[in-house]
Amino acid sequence: MEASKLEHFKQLLLTELGRHAQYVSEDQAAALDAASDDAKESADLSLRDVIEEMALRLGDQESQMVADIDQALLRIEEGSYGICARCGSAIEERRLEALPAARYDAECQAAIEAAKGKNARPTL
Ligand SMILES: [Zn+2]
Repeated sequence: MEASKLEHFKQLLLTELGRHAQYVSEDQAAALDAASDDAKESADLSLRDVIEEMALRLGDQESQMVADIDQALLRIEEGSYGICARCGSAIEERRLEALPAARYDAECQAAIEAAKGKNARPTL
């Protein structure tokens, strides 16, 4: 993916993350702010700490969302963002616009959910 697009999705992810920022301290919110501003690169160091702190304070569902965003930011750093973790194809950009933390393309997501549905049957 092009650097400018990666930057775009990074901003989307950080905006998403910012929605949970009311749960963190002012210092941490400031670090989050600085992370979305490339001019202040030093704050990148503490972004991971901020995310961890947020995950601790949030409920299960929200902390899962924060963790997903964290993983997506890591994939941007590693250069694997936008690639389906199951089949290795590029994830549609329209899908990433709607779900910037998406790990799978639509096809694999559906397959995974179908498999989960089967496994979710109560065992007696
Ligand atoms: Zn796939």
